[in-house]
Amino acid sequence: MKIIVIPGDGIGPETMAVCTHVLETVSDKLNLQLQLVPEIAGHDSLKKHQATVTPELLAKVKDADGLMLGPMATYDFKDESKGEINPSKYFRKQLDLYANIRPAKTFPKIPTRMNPFDLAVVRENTEGFYADRNVESGNSEILVTPDVSISLRRITRHCCDRIAKTAFELAMTRKKHVSIVHKANVLRVTDGMFMDSCYNVAKNYPEVTVDEFIVDAMMAHVVRNPERFDTIVTTNMFGDILSDLTAELSGSLGLGGSLNAGDLYAMGQAAHGSAPDIAGQDIANPFSLITSASMLLNWLGQRHQLPIYIQAAKLIDLCMQQAIDAKETTIDIGGSLGTFQTGKQFIQRIQAA
Ligand code: ATP
Repeated sequence: MKIIVIPGDGIGPETMAVCTHVLETVSDKLNLQLQLVPEIAGHDSLKKHQATVTPELLAKVKDADGLMLGPMATYDFKDESKGEINPSKYFRKQLDLYANIRPAKTFPKIPTRMNPFDLAVVRENTEGFYADRNVESGNSEILVTPDVSISLRRITRHCCDRIAKTAFELAMTRKKHVSIVHKANVLRVTDGMFMDSCYNVAKNYPEVTVDEFIVDAMMAHVVRNPERFDTIVTTNMFGDILSDLTAELSGSLGLGGSLNAGDLYAMGQAAHGSAPDIAGQDIANPFSLITSASMLLNWLGQRHQLPIYIQAAKLIDLCMQQAIDAKETTIDIGGSLGTFQTGKQFIQRIQAA
């Protein structure tokens, strides 16, 4: 299996270096024969190729089996005509990675104000309120006059159906409970369609319990009782916001791993951004990317019927649990190690497992 590895911006180089070593170590240990191919995107690519991403890179990614994308300085990339394309959006759209799966769970040794919980947010990834991806050409945010602006939100039955199916399939492997998060009381047509799709898909999963929450009330419910949730399905922007909250409630955004998956391709990516405030200080938590890598290995294992890949993902998850229990972690989750040392000890743990 060939995996393209792109370090990205901000804390990306530090955390992706650790993640790459982890993948190499697991590959050696379980004979996965992973081929990790380094590539660049974001600021590095803008300097070298005058574009944050290039069609050549996309071709390489399509030719590979998976992609690990580091955090991108999305906020810096404002003008596509100057090559400043949001790489995250580019891959999600070009590879039709419609499902963004963002798990969040507490660990006994990580201080948090929450009751223990274990949930996953399943976020639609290709349309919604995202001006850079919901129109065929151009941008769906419009400045009508200097003082009037419009932002369009696209919701299609096709995208609702497929994200709902992803959520119900995932719920079948978890606690068989799907919560639909929406704002259909106000966005009657668009979120009405989303709800309709979810309930239609639900008919194929009679074992799954379904409930629904209005997105604003959901913020209170998830802070008050996160343990009552299992699989949460929602549209793009609500999922983006909600999943940062759930990651932080679990202890730190630095634990937030995610997988962006479509029918043909998948991309592991931390749920957080490039964290410029802590870049280059050797304090960023690499576990978000390591979890994302584990999710990618699991996806590859399922897709290509390779049980050893699924085993590799389980090994990474187990070692992460043990590392956290042993406080071999960065400071954001109560440890005292730097990024590099956290990675070094994690690798020794995998080798010894
Ligand atoms: P961007 O503009 O790229 O989204 P940001 O700083 O606005 O960057 P995040 O990168 O998501 O947004 O970071 C939000 C907060 O979470 C920051 O205070 C950051 O330091 C912290 N954070 C994010 N990722 C990690 C990590 N891996 N380890 C520790 N702290 C993190």
